Amino acid sequence: MMQNHEEHDHHENGSELSEMQLRVRALETVLAEKGYIDPAAIDVIIEAYETKVGPHNGARVVAKAWSDPVFKQALLANASEAIVALGLMNRVGDHLIAVENTPRQHNMIVCTLCSCYPWEVLGLPPVWYKSAPYRSRAVNDPRGVLADFGVALPADTAIRVWDSTAETRFMVLPMRPAGTEGWSEERLATLVTRDSMVGTGLPKNPKDA
Ligand code: FE
Repeated sequence: MMQNHEEHDHHENGSELSEMQLRVRALETVLAEKGYIDPAAIDVIIEAYETKVGPHNGARVVAKAWSDPVFKQALLANASEAIVALGLMNRVGDHLIAVENTPRQHNMIVCTLCSCYPWEVLGLPPVWYKSAPYRSRAVNDPRGVLADFGVALPADTAIRVWDSTAETRFMVLPMRPAGTEGWSEERLATLVTRDSMVGTGLPKNPKDA
């Protein structure tokens, strides 16, 4: 059942929009006409996801945990409560769990069923997170996936993969890079990448930041 990619990408409708975009637009139009949705409200939500919600929030959470042992304990005990208490966001899902990387254990997040993701702290999921190869290989060959992302861990570091669901989301608390003693939270946050909070990456090297 080979499908010609060129043909697949060619849009019969002759518009710049993909078939999926056209279907979404058609659905939105029908729902708006029937009064189920308010297009202006949808625009506000999308705008919020594009500008306010994003991995910068997660980065601030991680930097705080690196700087404040009391907050770190609270975060690991109940990430949803700890993050709401920080006042960064006015809405965090009820079951956000932070998993801590250590020299002995590296954590990686996946949703094998679909694309559940801790969007409250990381924003919209990257395309690869939703892809079938990531979803299957993260479980079967996490070390291989990490290699694809350019991450090589010591052989004696175990890799634990956490499978997200609609109810329970995870974020990784990466290890604080060496050489950052005395750094402010704001400066530490610049080292925290989105991928380091999904577990497919590590924080930036402070020498490169
Ligand atoms: Fe999912």
